[in-house]
Amino acid sequence: MLELRDVSVKYGSFTAVQNVNIDVSAGEIVVLLGANGAGKSTVFRTISRLNKASSGSILFEGSSISKSSPDKIVKSGIVQCAEGRRLFPMMTVYENLKMGAYVHRSHRNKTKDSMEYVFELFPILREKQNDMAGSLSGGQQQMLAIGRALMAKPKLMLLDEPSIGLAPLIVEQMFEVIQKINSEGTTILLAEQNANAALKIADKGYVFENGSVVLEGTSEELFSNDEVRKAYIGA
Ligand code: ATP
Repeated sequence: MLELRDVSVKYGSFTAVQNVNIDVSAGEIVVLLGANGAGKSTVFRTISRLNKASSGSILFEGSSISKSSPDKIVKSGIVQCAEGRRLFPMMTVYENLKMGAYVHRSHRNKTKDSMEYVFELFPILREKQNDMAGSLSGGQQQMLAIGRALMAKPKLMLLDEPSIGLAPLIVEQMFEVIQKINSEGTTILLAEQNANAALKIADKGYVFENGSVVLEGTSEELFSNDEVRKAYIGA
């Protein structure tokens, strides 16, 4: 579904991502692991075309998207749910969700269906639909960020650090919902520092260090790898 071939990304003369190859098949959950600054967010931003690759190519469903506009990429079915939530805090939960459906502007029924789907996944968002997004707890804001991304009916959802800053119990719920979203047909590329939780739901993963992939494998392979355990699982 998504193929990155020898993708490199530079910020000025600094190479943040170097010769990265990633394959995501339809239906999978794939996780990118790595410390802060290893290059995971840069990979996401490059897929969404918020950054330009300095070399290499990116294919989505067999077609190159390396030169598509960010808007076209969303329309083709790739939606990024940003780290840091990037909600509209002074707008209500309902309004934030509606903004997520802008790609289907002319289809009112579709928007309604998507909203109902989001409210079923996250009942608390239905309860709080008239509250300002800025008044929600951290976990609820993260749910809203995922909900807003789902409003665009993505084929592939890019999730950057969905567990960051959340209490352990909420993290567990978050990963359960991610798994549910996936089982209902959305392919997921996830960046996480919480390797333990992420590998439990992922099919496979890539380990990033200093902008390069240093290890890849199935979740079982990575979970039992000594280096991964030492660096990311703490066992
Ligand atoms: P994090 O989890 O902190 O987001 P990451 O693995 O996603 O980490 P990136 O944010 O992709 O890492 O950063 C990769 C490298 O690129 C880091 O060394 C970072 O300092 C650098 N970098 C990121 N954004 C910029 C930018 N706009 N200009 C210059 N350097 C940048």
